[in-house]
Amino acid sequence: MIEKSVPAPPATRELRGLALFRDHGAEIIHEGHGVYAVPGCSGGSYTVDLAVFGGEESCSCPDHARHPKYSCKHLIAATISRAKSRAKARREQRKRTASRAARGNVASLTVGA
Ligand SMILES: [Zn+2]
Repeated sequence: MIEKSVPAPPATRELRGLALFRDHGAEIIHEGHGVYAVPGCSGGSYTVDLAVFGGEESCSCPDHARHPKYSCKHLIAATISRAKSRAKARREQRKRTASRAARGNVASLTVGA
């Protein structure tokens, strides 16, 4: 009988994080200050801290406890969620800026008329 040692973290965890985000991204809750509630596979959720104020990123799942130096799939899913919401915020900011610029252009055209 081969004794089980702690397995090396699978190289597929990035893919698993992506899959988790794809399937459950809408259920990820940003609780503020870089802390996210990320759904687990067996129901419930894990608390992910993206350490926005410095320090180490962490997750409350057993995988992260076993491999604290590696990002578990919840950390990866939370990171994707944060990137997506930042991109969305930037898009909306650009949209606001663009429409303001457009109004400005219209105003400058009518001023000269
Ligand atoms: Zn985790």
